[in-house]
Amino acid sequence: METKVLKPTPEAIREAAAALRFGELVGIPTETVYGLGAHALDEAAVRKIFAAKGRPADNPLIVHVASLEDAEPLCHISDTARALAARFCPGPLTIIMPRKPVVPDVVTANLETVAVRIPAHPVALALLRESGLPVAAPSANTSGKPSPTTAQHVYHDMNGKLPIILDGGESQVGLESTVITLAGDIPTVLRPGGITPEMLLEVLPEVRVADSVLRPLQAGEKALSPGMMYQHYAPGGLLTMVKGKAENVQRVCKDLYRAALADGKTACILAFDEHLSAYEGMDVLSIGCLADPETVSHKLFAVLRELDEAGTDLMFSEVLPAEGLGLAIMNRLSRAAGFRTIDADQED
Ligand code: AMP
Ligand code: MG
Repeated sequence: METKVLKPTPEAIREAAAALRFGELVGIPTETVYGLGAHALDEAAVRKIFAAKGRPADNPLIVHVASLEDAEPLCHISDTARALAARFCPGPLTIIMPRKPVVPDVVTANLETVAVRIPAHPVALALLRESGLPVAAPSANTSGKPSPTTAQHVYHDMNGKLPIILDGGESQVGLESTVITLAGDIPTVLRPGGITPEMLLEVLPEVRVADSVLRPLQAGEKALSPGMMYQHYAPGGLLTMVKGKAENVQRVCKDLYRAALADGKTACILAFDEHLSAYEGMDVLSIGCLADPETVSHKLFAVLRELDEAGTDLMFSEVLPAEGLGLAIMNRLSRAAGFRTIDADQED
């Protein structure tokens, strides 16, 4: 199948909507990352998503709609969900609610709940309105790889597997949506994202963050969110996080880098803008500005993809505090690194 990357003109959006109605996949720009969309109520179409990504069938999908009203046929919407939606939707928040029977099992991986999001990107909203469909869409990457934040990333992973990718420019947030479940007693963040726990507390009296957000699942532990089970976002080489006081982190990163080269390996340091000058003469990539975490979330996946493409053997990354948006950034970086961390303060 020929894959076209189209500017999101009204004509292209009509063509993409027709493809969705026809049971085909479409690459969709959103403010979080690019999605691989299919008509959510068409089981055969949804199966194509799992095949194209190589996604395990037990990892459920997020259903995208243009408004809360459009979600009414799909799920039971509580007052809490309405309050969250009134404050944060459209936006990078996915709400898990009890499903209604119309949602195919393949979408929810047989769970009794369904994940729903109203994206804020104008092209995604235009496509949802034009098609009149609920659209199931995970991130449009090959399973396990960093999520795509440009149409070119989607083309790289999905060329030949779908007829149309709409090019809506770089994804603004750059990380997947915050996933919150309202299925239990206390609203619980299963995956941190652009809507931080601090922001959620502006609307909710209490919010929990799932333990597994910043650590690997223990043997025998059941994932509340099946997506948390898998190694994710990972470049091909070995990524290690280096934490501690800035000067110690820089010393350890440089030592590790030199040792890697001496060992005949290719290596790269991932550093914040504020520290780039410390690594002069070394292969170093900016992961944004430490003082402005939005710049980090915006470019993190693009940097991981670049390193994957380059085939870099060893990567050493600075880290930031897991607070505010930093929680989502550290969740993704930890998974990309398989949780490998060196404490530079202990290396003295
Ligand atoms: P992705 O679409 O690739 O961004 O992944 C969607 C995320 O939402 C994954 O981590 C899923 O496991 C999670 N998710 C989707 N639906 C549910 C659900 N009903 N219950 C719990 N987690 C879900
Ligand atoms: Mg994904």
